[in-house]
Amino acid sequence: MERILSANWTVSGAHTRPVYEQRGGYQSLRKALSMDGAAIIDEVKRSNLRGRGGAGFPTGIKWGFLPRESDVPKYLAINADEGEPGTFKDRFIMELDPHRLLEGCLIAGWTLGLRAAYIYIRGEMKLGAQRLDAAIDELYAANLLGKRILGRDGFDFDIYVHRGAGAYVCGEETAMIESLEGKAGQPRLKPPFPAVVGLFGCPTVVNNVETIACLPTILERGGDWFAAAGSDKNGGPKLVQISGAVRRPGCYEAPSGVSLRDFIFSDEYGGGMRDGRKLKAVIPGGSSCPPLSADELDVGMDFDQMREKGTMFGTGGVIVIPDDVCLVRMAARTAHFYHHESCGQCTPCREGTGWVAKILDAIEAGHAKREDLDLLLEICDNVEGNTICPLGDAMAMPIRGYLKKFRADFEEHIAHGACRFPAW
Ligand code: SF4
Repeated sequence: MERILSANWTVSGAHTRPVYEQRGGYQSLRKALSMDGAAIIDEVKRSNLRGRGGAGFPTGIKWGFLPRESDVPKYLAINADEGEPGTFKDRFIMELDPHRLLEGCLIAGWTLGLRAAYIYIRGEMKLGAQRLDAAIDELYAANLLGKRILGRDGFDFDIYVHRGAGAYVCGEETAMIESLEGKAGQPRLKPPFPAVVGLFGCPTVVNNVETIACLPTILERGGDWFAAAGSDKNGGPKLVQISGAVRRPGCYEAPSGVSLRDFIFSDEYGGGMRDGRKLKAVIPGGSSCPPLSADELDVGMDFDQMREKGTMFGTGGVIVIPDDVCLVRMAARTAHFYHHESCGQCTPCREGTGWVAKILDAIEAGHAKREDLDLLLEICDNVEGNTICPLGDAMAMPIRGYLKKFRADFEEHIAHGACRFPAW
């Protein structure tokens, strides 16, 4: 398959402007400047580009929520926090091909009449932040950022890189905005939505790194080409990651809708199970997604097909779990993670995540009772949908999935005591 989004990753120096431009970089921006914003939005809608931070909302429609006219500046806030366990795609874009993201920001800026973009990058991604900063300096020196970009009257645009402190909840758009404003990263009640009252109280569109990095290709090849490069209503190539007990863990570019089975077992991608181990479960899109069992792998990897299977495509971070891993322990780790990351504003999330983690610990240690399984489900039901942001759901959905699909593993712990699996 032709690599598009990752084409520059193996090219020496592609993170610098001269090499990026030699390879056709910033031609899509020049093309965008010859079009009006409405035509570009139309192209993005035709591309079937879906938000790649996890929610899968159609990007062109999201852009349509931003007011056309505004007395105050409008902003783009890029979610580069990438905190979902199992996810490691945006960091490659920022480290190896930062100009692709910046060109996408400029295209969005021109299209939507924005004043600036803020890239909220996870603090630990030091190399990505350094490369973005260096690339931004190159753009100011070349009049590709700042005032009257490429001589265009009225096109003044700046890009800022903001390093976050590594809180998972700052992947939620309003928590990220709060953090960008210098406050504690705690989600806001919605409405108002960021498109109306966002960063610094101004209309703001929030997009993921990979979403914005797709824009140069959509401008270059057209929305119809991009739509045809994916599956139904899920346009384009996608960066999909695979980790766990496979021979070739990594981040791969694949057509949206590629079969999960092929993705795990084909030598082009995951290469099959490592060390002769047997597949037991798969998390298809980061730790907040309900797991699939070994007989549910014949599903296309896109937002709609995964939803039909009762799970989510999320960030496309596939985690392959072999049969020598204890799913009770896996569920407990997941609950502890979300409890640790809860910002504490809502009682169901603050208390429910910790309660679930404690019960799972007791099951794993062989101290629980059968009724605790039903209690777990009841707590999950009471957390989901009753919180300000989806972090509570992100705990409840996978825990309920483990319990429903692998209940026998939980019952075995209760019947026979502590875990028989090795620690890992
Ligand atoms: Fe905070 Fe959890 Fe409520 Fe989200 S759901 S606002 S993380 S307490």
